[in-house]
Amino acid sequence: MIFIGNHLASSKGFEAMGKHAVELGGDTFAFFTRNPRGGSAKAIDPEDVKRLQELMETHGFGRLVAHAPYTMNLCAEKPNIRQFSIEMLQDDLKRMEYLPGHYYNFHPGSHVGQGAEKGIEMITDALNQSLWPEMSTTVLLETMAGKGSEVGRNFEELKEIMEKTDCRDKLGVCFDTCHVWDGGYDIVGDLDGVLKEFDRIIGLEHLKAVHFNDSMNPCGSHKDRHEKIGQGKIGMEALKQVATHPLLQDRPFILETPNEDEGYAAEIALIKGWAKDGKR
Ligand code: FE
Ligand code: FE
Ligand code: ZN
Repeated sequence: MIFIGNHLASSKGFEAMGKHAVELGGDTFAFFTRNPRGGSAKAIDPEDVKRLQELMETHGFGRLVAHAPYTMNLCAEKPNIRQFSIEMLQDDLKRMEYLPGHYYNFHPGSHVGQGAEKGIEMITDALNQSLWPEMSTTVLLETMAGKGSEVGRNFEELKEIMEKTDCRDKLGVCFDTCHVWDGGYDIVGDLDGVLKEFDRIIGLEHLKAVHFNDSMNPCGSHKDRHEKIGQGKIGMEALKQVATHPLLQDRPFILETPNEDEGYAAEIALIKGWAKDGKR
C-alpha cells in the first residue's frame, strides 16, 4: 500500500488542508511552507496543528511532504539571493518542528553557469549550516528534470550532496516521476533497471516519497511539464507499475498534475483502485 494525495493550498491552515485531503479521498498531502514565489510565512497556530494531527490519526494518514518555495536557490550566484534562501530554509525547518516527523522537500538549486560541482558544494554548505542532529523532519532532495542549470538532474548529483552533508541521516530523496523521465531515466521501458540504478547509487532506503506525475514530453527532454495521470508520455500502464511496485510501497505519493479538485479526486480513486487489483 502507498499513501496518496495531492498538493493543497495552505491559506486556510493545517486542519483545513487535512479535511480537504480527506474530501478528495487522500491519506497524505503536500503544501507550500510559505508563498511559493515570495518569502512571507504565516505564524503557526499550535491548536490548528493539533487538530490536523488528530484528523491524520483518525484517517490513517502517511507522512506529509511539505514543499519549499520555488524562489529558494541554495546555489544562487548572487550572495544576497543565496543568503535569503538559506534563511528561508532555516526558518522553514524550525517551523516544521511544530508538526514533527514529516518530510520537507526542496529543489537542490540552479547553479546558473557556475557549474554543477560548485552548485553541489554551495548546496551542501547551506545544508550544513541548517540541519541539526535532533531535528525530527527528514529533508528530501527532489530528483530534477535537468532544465536549465538545475542541480540534481541525475542520481549521482543527489548522492554527492547527501555524502557531503554532515547530518546525512536527516536527508532523503523525493522521486518525481515526471522529472526522472524527463531527466533521461526510462521508467516506461525499464522501471526495474532504473530502480536498480537508484539503489546502487543512492540506496532505495533513502527514497522516501514520490511526486507522481505524467509528463508532456519524451524521456530525456529535460522540459519539466507535468501532465495528468495517463495522458502524457509516461502513460497509464507505466505509472501503474510505479505505484504498485513492491520496492516503492509504504511511501507517500503526491500528485502534482494539472488538475482541480475533481480531477485530483478521480486520480486518487484510480490509484487506490490499482492497489486493490494488485492484492487479488
Ligand atoms: Fe518540486
Ligand atoms: Fe515535483
Ligand atoms: Zn516539475
